[in-house]
Amino acid sequence: MSVRVRFGPSPTGELHVGGLRTALFDWLFARHHGGVFILRIEDTDQKRTVPGAEDRIMQGLRWLGLDWDEGPDIGGPHAPYRQSERLPSYQAAATQLLASGHAYRCACSSERLDRIRKAKQQAKRPPGYDGHCRTLSDTEITEAIAEQGGRSVVRFKMPHEGATVVPDALRGDVVFENRLLDDHVLLKADGFPTYHLASVVDDHAMQISHVFRGDEWLPSAPRHLLLYHALGYQPPIFVHQPIILGPDKGKLSKRHGATSVLEYADRGYLPEALINFLVLLGWSKDDHTTKMSLDEIVAAFDIDRMGVTPTTFDHQRLDAMNADFLRDLTPQQFFDRARPFLDRLLPADIARPLALDPLLPLAPLIQERVKLLPEVADYVDFFLTPGPLDYANAELMGKGFRDNPAGALAAVDGAREALLAVDPWTTEGIEAALRGLAERLQLKPGVVFTPLRVAVTGKRIAPPLFETLTVLGPDRVSERLNLAAQRLARPDD
Ligand code: GLU
Repeated sequence: MSVRVRFGPSPTGELHVGGLRTALFDWLFARHHGGVFILRIEDTDQKRTVPGAEDRIMQGLRWLGLDWDEGPDIGGPHAPYRQSERLPSYQAAATQLLASGHAYRCACSSERLDRIRKAKQQAKRPPGYDGHCRTLSDTEITEAIAEQGGRSVVRFKMPHEGATVVPDALRGDVVFENRLLDDHVLLKADGFPTYHLASVVDDHAMQISHVFRGDEWLPSAPRHLLLYHALGYQPPIFVHQPIILGPDKGKLSKRHGATSVLEYADRGYLPEALINFLVLLGWSKDDHTTKMSLDEIVAAFDIDRMGVTPTTFDHQRLDAMNADFLRDLTPQQFFDRARPFLDRLLPADIARPLALDPLLPLAPLIQERVKLLPEVADYVDFFLTPGPLDYANAELMGKGFRDNPAGALAAVDGAREALLAVDPWTTEGIEAALRGLAERLQLKPGVVFTPLRVAVTGKRIAPPLFETLTVLGPDRVSERLNLAAQRLARPDD
């Protein structure tokens, strides 16, 4: 069977973790089997359609690298790929179902539907349509529709007895009792289809072989299966993926810090880390592998290692994974990835394009220290800034020289002198000079190094001191130490 899968987002908002995982699994499955991945925009609920959402969904998929082979922007053999542009095919299917007796027209007013909903609620009966128009004769329904000013919907005629068995690739057969399913709407009064009709008609027309989707859609599956049968179509293979839980075991939501795909991009996650993280929410390569390249995932991905147990979204795990992937980059790749964030975050007085090349030797040290790309800004700003650094004298003194500017000054002056003798200017030479200074002063290295670190970086947390000094070079180091000495010689600011 040739594999054809589709991702069918509704452009009603941002693409969140659940949808993203579905898109990823679709894409991986298609790529693994050399199949086709289709993007189909399911915009039949026009009231909920948000302008711009479709573009943002596409941007998010592109950022993640999930390219599609057929879709609204690139077309394909089954165009159009936006459901609002496919209305005639849904209307034709509804007409076919009316003619074959699988569907009927319904002219119930919204007031009546409201009344039965409330009555059922009070009687603690399952909600759903009561089948009022199902038994009306042709004349009766024509009259009823005329009374409603010509408004009517098309409903599916659910069997009242028996059960519908949905074969699910992960769960096996899932049995639904038909009497619990109501005569749902297929075509709305405005001529738009409901999700059920549209997805079945399109999945058939687009020759979809497998339907991956979140298990919140499992209750809809018997409706779909009955529709396939009524229309004489061959159903696809259903793969309902397990629910994603937040750390508190409730359904994952924004309050758990789960954000949209573009926010992940914006916060400095790497797409490859997010993919590795997402794929493990419902799939595993084996019992132990937790980190994989995209090629490895594509090669190994299949349904047989997908699970049905709910998975938990663990933000710390995602951050740790991102840090791990950041460490794998070469220095050049790391700065290339960081550059857009640095361009945005670093102050305007730093010249653009940013001169990052001299900092390349430091990249591995920064890579060990950051989880997200925007954090890089804090590790490089002091190299690039043309002006004097901004810090308070208290910071220069640190804990070791608290209220002791003279002590801190002795350390800074001692360092100026010791560093003058360092030639060539290497990390080892600098280290030897400064450790020697600490010994001479009979102080712990940490105490002596704090004022030096603050003097040259403006902060207490920075890349390692000796490497930092190496990259800054003797002139800028001496300039910054001089400035610190002047400040320490002055009463506090
Ligand atoms: N449009 C549905 C959604 O946004 C897709 C469901 C399906 O894949 O069948 O979740």
